[in-house]
Amino acid sequence: MNFIQGGVNLIKDKITPELKRSFLETIEKTRNSGKEHGFFICEDKDDKLHASDRKCEGSLCSIIVDPKIGDCPGKIKGFFHAHPHITTLEKTYGIKFSQTDIKELISMSKELSKRENISLQIPSHRDVLTSLLQKCIRKTEGTVCTATDMEKDKIECWTPKKNAANFITCGYAKIDDTKTEDIGEYPKMWIKPLFDKEVIRLDE
Ligand SMILES: [Zn+2]
Repeated sequence: MNFIQGGVNLIKDKITPELKRSFLETIEKTRNSGKEHGFFICEDKDDKLHASDRKCEGSLCSIIVDPKIGDCPGKIKGFFHAHPHITTLEKTYGIKFSQTDIKELISMSKELSKRENISLQIPSHRDVLTSLLQKCIRKTEGTVCTATDMEKDKIECWTPKKNAANFITCGYAKIDDTKTEDIGEYPKMWIKPLFDKEVIRLDE
């Protein structure tokens, strides 16, 4: 079974056309600048989601992850950011890709992710861990949505299951927090079952 058709629908139905536009614009900004861009996802009283006024860019995205009172008028559902995968790879290899290189790179990455049954949009372990920790201290509802500059028409959202944040998982998360790097790795085995995952298309 493909997890993309996993059937959960926690975020998708609450996305307003404005929020969809914010996702698309933010992914485009990341593609053009080669930096992370993001914002908080706010939840209204009527259950609809929208983008916070406070936006983040580049290394600021790890600072904005710390939510402040007033970032959302209602609840803070979570945090969204786009990963600049193309630029990160350029830095890793120390070269500048041509448009043809980029096309090839994207199709190779898509092929690889299909084979491993993970999306290109998948949040990092650090992203998911931070969200769980915030849910633990009730700063946000713990949702994390991520995107990539390699495939601009989708986002992936991870939302904690009911009772996912408890004495044991939050204690474990605190310990793991001291051992987890800020970039890179996929979500670890222990954290995955605590979340429901959705891949949301932005082009429909
Ligand atoms: Zn991230």
